[in-house]
Amino acid sequence: MKVEKYRIHGITQNTETECFQNGTCEHCKRFNTSPVWCQSCDPWKSAQKFTSGNEEIDNFIKELQIKATEYDKVIEWIPFDRLVNRKEIKNKSEVEFMADWLDCIRIIKGESGNYTRSRTISRVELMKLHCSQASTLKLIENFKNHVQLDKYRIHGITQDTETGEYMIVFDFYHQKRKPINGICEDCKRYNTYLAWCQLCDPWREVQGWTSNDKDIDDCIKEFQLKATAYENVIEWIHFDRLEGPKQIDGKRIVDGDSERYTRFRKTSCEVAIKTLPGSQKSDSFLTEVG
Ligand SMILES: [Zn+2]
Ligand SMILES: [Zn+2]
Repeated sequence: MKVEKYRIHGITQNTETECFQNGTCEHCKRFNTSPVWCQSCDPWKSAQKFTSGNEEIDNFIKELQIKATEYDKVIEWIPFDRLVNRKEIKNKSEVEFMADWLDCIRIIKGESGNYTRSRTISRVELMKLHCSQASTLKLIENFKNHVQLDKYRIHGITQDTETGEYMIVFDFYHQKRKPINGICEDCKRYNTYLAWCQLCDPWREVQGWTSNDKDIDDCIKEFQLKATAYENVIEWIHFDRLEGPKQIDGKRIVDGDSERYTRFRKTSCEVAIKTLPGSQKSDSFLTEVG
């Protein structure tokens, strides 16, 4: 410090890449470190205005928030009453409920040089953090494991006000959601497969039909709830929809190009009928011929 050429305020370490394409931070006026996100200023803003009612959980969430490097990766405390239209999911997967989040999911819109923050899509999934409420530490450990696993996109954590159970609020199929698959009409997120949203579409399939045998219904519905593509859905087919060895409703097909995929049914197709062992004559399954 011999030469008094400039005034030194201190020393810092710039580990992030400030880049003009990410926009300018409103607070410090420097370029953001990721799209619409300033690593120096933004994490502190999100870490200030919430409480879960449990200090240890608050501190843990704040710790995660301060480390957040992107706007859409911030994990939040989500009050249970902000999650509406809760629907139980019964397909024995890790997802236990779906719901609409009144504050919506964080989304970065726009393109390089002109990004904006948005919160528009509301559908989320919920999964219980199976832990006794008495052990906050165990709960935090459990949640931390899910965060580190990086298997799905986690939006936050909530507590069921009736049961006291803590739940992860997340997008279970995030890794499968791709623009090329089109947008799900129901949840407005990208589909998980061509013209198919694995969370929303199976629910439509299980509705509005019955074989008049509860066990058969349950079995088919179990397959339907797990269906990963429109064409792979197994259906109950009324015998009167079969004409000779033909299925009048036609086989399910997805067609189109990367701009837009659509679902339709090929007008009637030939099928083979096989009677299942141990069944009455009426219980058969169909396979397509050719
Ligand atoms: Zn800043
Ligand atoms: Zn959907």
